[in-house]
Amino acid sequence: MSRIPVLTTVGEVRKTVGEWRCSGRTIGFVPTMGALHPGHLSLVSLALEHADRVIVSIYVNPAQFGPDEDYESYPRTFRDDIDKLEKVGANAVFLPEKDTIYPEGFSTSVHVCNLTDTLCGKYRPGHFDGVATVCAVFFGIVQPDIAVFGKKDAQQLAVIKRMVLDQRFAIKIIGADIYRERDGLAMSSRNRYLRPIERMQATALFRGLSRAAELACKGERDAGILCEVARQVIEKSPLAVIQYLEIVDQDTMKSVEKLDGPGLLAVSAYFGKTRLIDNIVLDPDASYKED
Ligand code: AMP
Repeated sequence: MSRIPVLTTVGEVRKTVGEWRCSGRTIGFVPTMGALHPGHLSLVSLALEHADRVIVSIYVNPAQFGPDEDYESYPRTFRDDIDKLEKVGANAVFLPEKDTIYPEGFSTSVHVCNLTDTLCGKYRPGHFDGVATVCAVFFGIVQPDIAVFGKKDAQQLAVIKRMVLDQRFAIKIIGADIYRERDGLAMSSRNRYLRPIERMQATALFRGLSRAAELACKGERDAGILCEVARQVIEKSPLAVIQYLEIVDQDTMKSVEKLDGPGLLAVSAYFGKTRLIDNIVLDPDASYKED
């Protein structure tokens, strides 16, 4: 039996969060789609550093999946997730039914302009509308002081920051560093789809990104050259099929041709049927250290 409260209705969340707030606690929120791995749990730990009480949602949001994407087959491991959240010290889990978030008659869609046209937005039409809409709903229900999002989904983080700014939500958005496997692969709920050979070759993503970051630290500022170097390293893995590889501004997601400050090198690639994303910040002003 789990001791962490598992809340399923809006009323239960409001009551629990309301009690915390009445006793003077600050509230942290971590939205997830479950199938939790240590990367997710690092977000919860970070939230606990910034808030007195932390609530984590587990909700596979239908609105952010395209018609040919993996909504139906997305891993659902709720029991296991709740145990992990209890161990890491989260104070409550919000596990809503599909209709609790999108009740009959739900008619709102949040569209964040401009920064959703590039990178993943280009290949997943409507994805960020689904993300922004569900986050706006969650923010309205939970009304947290802070919310933590992973830098692995850098475009998502930028979209949420922009939405919060534009809508004047009184929430501080905190970005958590990318949590990686020992061999560099960014942790993802979708890594479990990879066949062993694909899993091995997927490490090329971080190798490619790191090579570009090294060159940037040594002074290379030409985005075309940096992307080409990363591409060559990644494509040494024959199973890698790159969808995009681009350097963008971290806040606007606009393409950058020359680095005159930190830029985000972002990549999406297929390994077999599995689409992975990763990114690294290139900082030409950071000093490069040989190991
Ligand atoms: P998801 O369950 O995939 O929607 O992810 C929930 C949150 O966890 C998002 O803010 C993700 O960016 C974040 N996240 C997922 N994987 C990682 C990772 N490897 N490192 C850091 N954050 C992550």
